[in-house]
Amino acid sequence: MKAASAARSILTTLHEVMASRTHTQAKLNQVVDVIGEALDSEVCTIYLLRDGMLELFATRGLNQAAVHVTRLGVGEGLTGSIAQNIETLNLDEAATHPEFQYRPETGEEKFHSLAGVPIVRRERAIGVLTVQHVEPRKYAEVEIEALQTVAMVLAELINNAALVDEEDIGGPAEARTGQDRLDGLKLVKGLAIGEAVFHQPRVQIEQTVAEDTEAERERVYLAFDRMREQIDTMTGQAEFGLGGEHEQVLETYKMFAYDEGWSRRINEAIDSGLTAEAAIERVQQRTRMRMREISDPLLQDRMHDLEDLANRLIRIVSGQLGTAAQKGLTRDAILVAKNLGPAELLEYDKRRLKGVVLEEGSLTAHVVIVARAMGVPVVGRIRNLRGMVREGDEVLVDGDSGSVTLRPGNGVLSAFEARFARAKEKKAAYAKLREIEPFTRDGERIEVMMNAGLRDDVGMLAMTGADGIGLYRTEFQFLVSAGLPSRERQARLYRDVLDAAKGKPVIFRTVDIGGDKALPYLANEIAKEDENPAMGWRALRLALEREGLMKSQARALLEGCAGRELNVMFPMVSEPWEFDAAKKVFEQQLDFLRKRKHQLPSAIRYGVMLEVPSLAETLDQLLPRLSFVSIGTNDLTQFLFAADRANPMLAERYDWLSPAILRFLDRVVKNCVGTPVDLGVCGEMGGRRLEALALIGLGIRRLSITPAAVGQIKELVRKVDTKEIGEAMIGWLAVPPENMREALQAWAMERDIEVD
Ligand code: PEP
Ligand code: MG
Repeated sequence: MKAASAARSILTTLHEVMASRTHTQAKLNQVVDVIGEALDSEVCTIYLLRDGMLELFATRGLNQAAVHVTRLGVGEGLTGSIAQNIETLNLDEAATHPEFQYRPETGEEKFHSLAGVPIVRRERAIGVLTVQHVEPRKYAEVEIEALQTVAMVLAELINNAALVDEEDIGGPAEARTGQDRLDGLKLVKGLAIGEAVFHQPRVQIEQTVAEDTEAERERVYLAFDRMREQIDTMTGQAEFGLGGEHEQVLETYKMFAYDEGWSRRINEAIDSGLTAEAAIERVQQRTRMRMREISDPLLQDRMHDLEDLANRLIRIVSGQLGTAAQKGLTRDAILVAKNLGPAELLEYDKRRLKGVVLEEGSLTAHVVIVARAMGVPVVGRIRNLRGMVREGDEVLVDGDSGSVTLRPGNGVLSAFEARFARAKEKKAAYAKLREIEPFTRDGERIEVMMNAGLRDDVGMLAMTGADGIGLYRTEFQFLVSAGLPSRERQARLYRDVLDAAKGKPVIFRTVDIGGDKALPYLANEIAKEDENPAMGWRALRLALEREGLMKSQARALLEGCAGRELNVMFPMVSEPWEFDAAKKVFEQQLDFLRKRKHQLPSAIRYGVMLEVPSLAETLDQLLPRLSFVSIGTNDLTQFLFAADRANPMLAERYDWLSPAILRFLDRVVKNCVGTPVDLGVCGEMGGRRLEALALIGLGIRRLSITPAAVGQIKELVRKVDTKEIGEAMIGWLAVPPENMREALQAWAMERDIEVD
């Protein structure tokens, strides 16, 4: 029997049963008969979830007295494990399976073979459908597929008849599959509680049996067309803009999207009587099951890609398009995604977005920097995350320890809430430091500035009491715009930022586009051949060659800062001449404005970011031409270690507190001592207490950090004696301890200085 015709004949009868006017129990009794008959099985049984237990609801072949009596925990016995793992079992000798448990009241001892499939709703098992046979035989693939198809239809019947409590599906965590703790990488500190929301939401399939098979075929055909178009457009853009890993993923997408086998199987499922959505899901379930048997991590990664694609296809077919951001968040949400771009994250409602959990991610990826600026905790690098979390699960994000708890039990939840409350108190205590100037114990004033990139971020200046904005990432305006922002819009933003800063200094960095900050509307121009966009044609390199871009930004900055001081710095300067060329663009624009008698900035201070190691070698040459230098440790680290900052595989490999970095920074500090050039650090490193302590020890007196860290860094500053840490640092640099991090930690602990 072909799978389609087996399933189709069952479905046709089931359709009649479902449409009949009998009550639900009678329908279920008929269902087990129909299936048992069709698959020639002595036993067919339906278990449904009730009050968190799997209750035997209907059976053909087992003792009828066991109906509504036999109850199994989720995870208990073979049936329980099918529900818990949401997996299909097909066993010729059930009793030899390690999970087997014998229930005398059912009288099932005489049956050898067993096949069971989960009945799934909203990605949770709400029941189990099993068939058993006296003969020890394995069920054929077509039979298993027929069972899976029936289980889908049963899910709909059960839902319509409200046989399973909604709470059992979407209610207390324990009733579903229990609490789960996942360990990942701490990317942004902080605690958050919320409901899991998939960035790319999954569609709820409400109708499984088709009214008109031809119409369903047509729907899926059109959806395939549309999906292929989308993927082609994406790969077309990627050829120019993205490169590397992303491109590989898209190639895999493309391969799946055009895979004949996939579309054929979906068509077969439609032939069996399913709707287009149900058919796609049905095929996906089968693939999932097959992939589970293969434990190759590479293949599992590809499985995610196929899941993404199937999800996309269902969304197209059902017309439910768009990301969760476009739909809007309705509750406190924890966003779940494989990875995100910074612009995608910015689309979310900040009031509702409480936390982010990613399968990928690294400390200095821009999406993480944006989340940090938004004060949203992030945990990353959780493998198969989307396979374990379900939409609507309650999730606790602990960005301090890098862990995530799904469906927490009461004990864990209340302990977490208590920590949450304490963290809030601490935050309030830091807020009190707002007015206090950060002087060290020995009276050195450390400038604690903050990083920003969006107009709204500037409000954090007043809230944190930071000394100013040490890094304003102007490219964020470009990232969140649909097209290149006009000169007028740029100038308006700069003016607004200065207004909001109320006289505190702001250092504007000219655009750093490229790397992981690709602009869709510049995709054809940027990084045509770049295999390594982070060290490719980006930032100043690109800006100097796209003169229009640089000129219009220079003019916008000069106009936006008219009558006030303009502090401007250039990213990715690798050799002194690049600084000269960039400055020249500003000077030309300045001339232009001067000639036309426009109001000019009251003063202009030029600086560079030191983030490409080569610049350190010629810094002495450049210093006389500079007002300030800001060390960008994010990029500097990636270039020093030759370790891509966005590569999740390298995210934990190198430490900011390694002697290599500290000695490098020490040289830069020594270069600047005795010159009027003002030196600071604006990478993420400075926002961590232990790292900040090391930087102060090296002689850094200006830190520009994420706003959320300003309070705790001010507190740290007040506990430090610069001479003491400076001396300790001299020793450590001369003879590096085996573990610099531990040495610093011990040093801080001895002095009662709280560090991370
Ligand atoms: C850096 O590289 O350290 C930096 C501050 O700039 P960005 O993170 O924007 O590249
Ligand atoms: Mg940088």
